[in-house]
Amino acid sequence: MNDCLFCKIIAGELPTTKLYEDDQVIAILDIMPVNPGHALVIPKTHSERMLETSEEEGAQVLSVAKRIGKALLETNLADGVTLSVNNGEASGQTVFHTHMHVIPRLNGDGLVSWKHGEYEDGEADKIATIVKNQLT
Ligand code: AMP
Ligand code: ZN
Repeated sequence: MNDCLFCKIIAGELPTTKLYEDDQVIAILDIMPVNPGHALVIPKTHSERMLETSEEEGAQVLSVAKRIGKALLETNLADGVTLSVNNGEASGQTVFHTHMHVIPRLNGDGLVSWKHGEYEDGEADKIATIVKNQLT
């Protein structure tokens, strides 16, 4: 954890551009923004992925992300907002301290977030059963 980039930012050991802070989360500007205003909302307690955060901290991350998203929409920085969280390397996560992206989106900005596939006949029901059996 001592080597964690975001823990160091939270501890004030690395410079950042801070948008918001309370006792549970901070929000900063992403250093390599998709568009200007791209923010990261980061819980102060270290966890690798959003999937492992407490209900309370996860809820506060979402609450602050919503506030920043609404603020962006009031400026000329955003026509829309994408809220996204990568969980694990396969999803594109590169910093392994939980964070939610608040990405200001502009009409025609060209960001493509994911591809679209399709299900074979009956496959959707099988997949749904696999997932439902693991839901706790
Ligand atoms: P992810 O790929 O979901 O793990 O996102 C990590 C994000 O952290 C990327 O968008 C990076 O641009 C951003 N990032 C990396 N280093 C810093 C930093 N020192 N300050 C702010 N954002 C950073
Ligand atoms: Zn950390």
